[in-house]
Amino acid sequence: MTITAQPVPILNDNYAWLLKDTETGATAIVDPAEGPPIIAAIEAAGGRLDMILLTHHHGDHVAATDEVRARFPCTVVGAAADAHRLPKLDIAVREGDTVALGNARGRVIDTPGHTNGQINFFFPEGPVLLSGDTLFSLGCGRLIEGTAADMFGSLAKLKALPGDTLVCCGHEYTESNARFALAVDPDNAALRARVAEVRAQRAAGKPSVPSRMADECQTNPFLLAPDIASLADVRGKKDKF
Ligand code: ZN
Ligand code: FE
Repeated sequence: MTITAQPVPILNDNYAWLLKDTETGATAIVDPAEGPPIIAAIEAAGGRLDMILLTHHHGDHVAATDEVRARFPCTVVGAAADAHRLPKLDIAVREGDTVALGNARGRVIDTPGHTNGQINFFFPEGPVLLSGDTLFSLGCGRLIEGTAADMFGSLAKLKALPGDTLVCCGHEYTESNARFALAVDPDNAALRARVAEVRAQRAAGKPSVPSRMADECQTNPFLLAPDIASLADVRGKKDKF
């Protein structure tokens, strides 16, 4: 039994994610912000949708939730803390809750920083992490609502996940993140190898994600920051880069 995760490119540089429990065929879409490409991806995968998972309230993650649920009646799951500013939720979740997709179980992880109510979903059966705008490949979300301390705590939880976890994030930001990462950590051999891989993937028109958590831990300047002050420093530099 496993969970597969397929990126669905939407808007300018967002990814929704199509999750499938291979044992039962149960299907979920994560962060549906644009209807037509998401509906097409669900149709191409067999026309079944059980669940919509929302990582946070920003429009580029939730805008087509009601359009998709009208086409495929399903269960909408999002953070209880942000229920007032998310589309109507069928299940409001908190840290440590689990969501069932077929026979697979996803665990809810609170990851404040980019927004206060941000959550991630971790499926050990992938293992797959839906990291929203918390963790990007070679980057992390801007601190729009939270503090560096919030983000440091969130990233510490994600770093502790298994190294083979597939990190499924909300944006194709990897190439621009790579330029910054190389500027602050030019002698990191693992980073240089990853950047070469990313450039080849993008030149071939392919997504640079999902990435592997073990690779992120060796290359992502925000995961490499050893303490809150260092993370605040790196985040501040990236904001001005
Ligand atoms: Zn966002
Ligand atoms: Fe976003």
